[in-house]
Amino acid sequence: MSDPVHLVCHYCHGINRVPRERLIDGPKCGKCGQPLLNGAPAQLDEKSFDRHIRRNDLPVLVDFWSPTCGPCMMMAPAFDQAAHRLEPAMRLAKVNVQSNPGLAMRHEVRGVPTVILFKGGAEAGRNVGAMDLEGIVSWARQYL
Ligand code: ZN
Repeated sequence: MSDPVHLVCHYCHGINRVPRERLIDGPKCGKCGQPLLNGAPAQLDEKSFDRHIRRNDLPVLVDFWSPTCGPCMMMAPAFDQAAHRLEPAMRLAKVNVQSNPGLAMRHEVRGVPTVILFKGGAEAGRNVGAMDLEGIVSWARQYL
């Protein structure tokens, strides 16, 4: 048995311990039964953000976006698809900066879309501006 990996549930925000070799077996949340790696980004807000960034043992790629930003809306389907490609090496999440201005301010997000990769709770890299699917995947993989 390898060291367990801590994963925060996208739905109930419960913290799960999953053996690393089981990450590819569709692990489910022990609290709410939802899949932990569902091929879709988590929707984070002021309340859930820190828990996901600090307690996930996998790197977390966060898309800071706004519903009034055209390039953000164009990038959204690519970011959703990137979750399929990047799990279980990392997890993906989205933050609506209009509903969560405090998070945008705290992470000095000045333009959207901005993607920030968090590793071990700290920022490891960021990219400002829209990317296509291949762009997101190759940009993120350089940090693995
Ligand atoms: Zn859950």
